[in-house]
Amino acid sequence: MHDSLTSQQAYFHQAADILNLSQNMRVLLLTPQREIKVQVAIERDNGEIATYVGYRVQHDKSRGPMKGGLRYHPAVDAAEVLTLATLMTWKTAVVNLPYGGAKGGISVDPRTLSAGELERITRKFVDEIHDMVGPDKDIPAPDMGTNAQVMAWFNNQYEKFHGHQPACVTGKPVELHGSEGREEATGRGVGTITAATLAEHRQPIKGAKIALQGFGNVGSFAARYLYEQRAKIVGLTDMTGGIWNPEGIAIPELLDYAKTAGGVADFPGCDSLTNEELLAADVDVLIPAALGGVLTAANAKSVRAKYLIEAANGPVMPDADEILLAKNVVVVPDILANAGGVTVSYFEWVQNRQHFKWDLTHVRSQLDKIMADSFQRVWQLAQEKKVPLRTAAYVLGIGRVARATTLGGI
Ligand code: NAD
Repeated sequence: MHDSLTSQQAYFHQAADILNLSQNMRVLLLTPQREIKVQVAIERDNGEIATYVGYRVQHDKSRGPMKGGLRYHPAVDAAEVLTLATLMTWKTAVVNLPYGGAKGGISVDPRTLSAGELERITRKFVDEIHDMVGPDKDIPAPDMGTNAQVMAWFNNQYEKFHGHQPACVTGKPVELHGSEGREEATGRGVGTITAATLAEHRQPIKGAKIALQGFGNVGSFAARYLYEQRAKIVGLTDMTGGIWNPEGIAIPELLDYAKTAGGVADFPGCDSLTNEELLAADVDVLIPAALGGVLTAANAKSVRAKYLIEAANGPVMPDADEILLAKNVVVVPDILANAGGVTVSYFEWVQNRQHFKWDLTHVRSQLDKIMADSFQRVWQLAQEKKVPLRTAAYVLGIGRVARATTLGGI
């Protein structure tokens, strides 16, 4: 079985045991509503035919229309999409959005395609799935390898079949029915959750030492937020390499530098740093914000951080999770820590349906409130049940989905 699928099911069953869910209910909750697999064939710029495979897994709709990202990456396959769709069901429930969970993707490396080819792939994918998605059914959003431009093409193609329907997809450009604050939302949410975790442990955020893996959408906005809160980002890695400065890295300057340099490597005034060194760094907070599966049984022993905030999806494997628990590392799980993105996607959908635009201040205050309230719910549940935060988050999310399923009837 796919590694990430196995790990997620392990976390599911820990929570299901606490909720006393029957075997039949577990099977019902884990079985996706619908798995869509389609051919996506386009003509490339050189006139050749190229055929790709596109997926959309609609996992659960008991709490509302299904919601989840669209990923363009060579590693996309049916198992990965199912894992991520299931994670979305628990995530939307943890932050109590009126949504179920879904995920989709095309198995393709977008860096090998021209803008025109990317547009044709997106439009072709919409041609194949438009009847099965929509504002009241399933609403895609950006994920790895896709962005606001891809969402704009998605929206435009969907509207050729269904008329004006901006709420059919979120993460659109602000100039085309997108929401203020959507781009920064996941990183900002990670920042607010980090601040809440430190506050709960009576540790000031000012001067807290932080190591971050990834300086893309999530990592860069999280770094900016934490820098503004006067935390010290001392270590950072990305695809180009890593940097270390015990006095704290100047994030505004790094943002400018990374734009032209293409990444963080060789940022002046810093030593270089590997991923392994970053994960084992002597810091207060470790934030993996790049890839899944980076903490394993092999390297979890070396973690010296007191708090680990899962900004990426699935960065900690279950055996690593046990090691971190034994070392008293506080792990804040992905389904809570990175839920800021789907939360502002929800605000975008609401604005599209109301034909009324919110300003950035309003988006931020509503996001901060949802993140703070959700953190408190999970924190209280963890204290009450004497379980780690991950188990508490799964108990909260799965419990809500199970109750909605039971109340709705089968
Ligand atoms: P992104 O593509 O914008 O950035 C990814 C970052 O990871 C880049 O800085 C890249 O250089 C770095 N990276 C890649 N390989 C690396 C490696 N081997 N070592 C160190 N760094 C490496 O992606 P993103 O949108 O920031 O997403 C990051 C993670 O957060 C993913 O797991 C994604 O599923 C998750 N996530 C994203 C959102 C969102 O709204 N963007 C929401 C929820 C979860």
